[in-house]
Amino acid sequence: MTEEQDHGQTPATQGSRIDAYVDRYAARATGMVASEIRALFAVASRPEVVSLAGGMPYVTALPLDMVGELVSDLVTRRGPVALQYGSGQGDPHLREQICEVMRLEGIEAGADDVVVTVGSQQALDLITRIFIDPGDVVLAEGPSYVGALGTFSAYQAKVVHISMDDQGLVPESLAQTIYALQAAGNTIKFLYTIPTFHNPGGVTLNAARRQQVLDICQRAGILIVEDNPYGLLGFDGDPMRALRADNPDGVVYLGSFSKTLAPGFRVGWALAPHAIRDKLVLAMESAVLSHSSFTQLAVGQYLATQPWREQIKTFRELYRERRDALLDALDDLMPTGVTWTRPGGGFFVWATLPEGLDSKAILPRAVAERVAFVPGTGFFSDGSGSRQMRLSYCYPQPDRIREGVRRLAGVIEGELQLRDTFGTATPPGHPGVDTPGPDLA
Ligand code: PMP
Repeated sequence: MTEEQDHGQTPATQGSRIDAYVDRYAARATGMVASEIRALFAVASRPEVVSLAGGMPYVTALPLDMVGELVSDLVTRRGPVALQYGSGQGDPHLREQICEVMRLEGIEAGADDVVVTVGSQQALDLITRIFIDPGDVVLAEGPSYVGALGTFSAYQAKVVHISMDDQGLVPESLAQTIYALQAAGNTIKFLYTIPTFHNPGGVTLNAARRQQVLDICQRAGILIVEDNPYGLLGFDGDPMRALRADNPDGVVYLGSFSKTLAPGFRVGWALAPHAIRDKLVLAMESAVLSHSSFTQLAVGQYLATQPWREQIKTFRELYRERRDALLDALDDLMPTGVTWTRPGGGFFVWATLPEGLDSKAILPRAVAERVAFVPGTGFFSDGSGSRQMRLSYCYPQPDRIREGVRRLAGVIEGELQLRDTFGTATPPGHPGVDTPGPDLA
């Protein structure tokens, strides 16, 4: 008897007990892989590292005492409701309040068409679950939000990217891609788009293009999923008009309190045409029965009793100052040949490195120099983005942002010298001189 058999293991089930079941996973589990951002979190959160990587809202800017009192008051006054199960669609009063928030972006909607979800991430999951069969096509900007790509991949969707420029998604590219895909017999289930203050692109779809995108999708019979967590975080002027405002029947709108209040409440929502709304509620019930009554009522209480518009203004000013710090530092310190977007709101700048440089390959060096960013490839489903990187300015203080850019500029300068001396910079897959360890695996 071999040692394995002695322990009740056949060669096929050697290893840990969990390993033994790997071959039993459903096919869709293959698409569930950790994002590049996840792998980065451990390194980027070391105090000596300036993290331009994560997209964490600066919740410290909230009056936390007020939040504490509000929560305590909620339990004391409405405990039996707040601590009870709720409805699958979400608290009716909160849904009314959500409609008031959406009115700031030109949306006229009734509370009946809103489904409250566990962040807009869950809304993305539910919408994908009810629409996608394996192999169906989802159109998405290239680059696109990494969390949405992860969800699409988990449901075995085929993501086809549409190009973007400084004015957002390019309508001609959208029209051509739809034509080519449909001619080849593909089923396109929806266009997933982040029209305002794009993550990671940092750009906004201009007003003329909004109408074009709506027209193209309407003509082709393609549903639009408009993901808009940053729409109220613009630095200049009034909020942009949402796509949903001009086509209630052809757009599912996703919103969130994660950036305008705090992600810890995990309150987001979907606004959908009636039939889709019904399916979303069923999918919601199947996933979680009902969202937490407690956090829904807490958000409702916050909106009812606190100056939430003023708080959004505070966030906008804070993020504007940080955006300025990042853009000024990039202008002052980055070597020639590096380019980047200039966001009018939101959290992110999208930078492109000169020819011959690979952002993933230089990340270990950057971390060794105590600065982190997210390499561009994580934001594409087709392996593009190797010369690009996402830089976020939402979390570090302005002086830290400048220091981070100084360190990053030094690393890129070094890469350019390598490239110019040896004809190649650090190649992709090269561990780098100062590999920071398994965290980046
Ligand atoms: N969509 C986009 C574009 C995002 O950037 C995020 C968060 N980073 C989400 C959706 C999900 O946010 P939440 O679930 O916290 O609402």
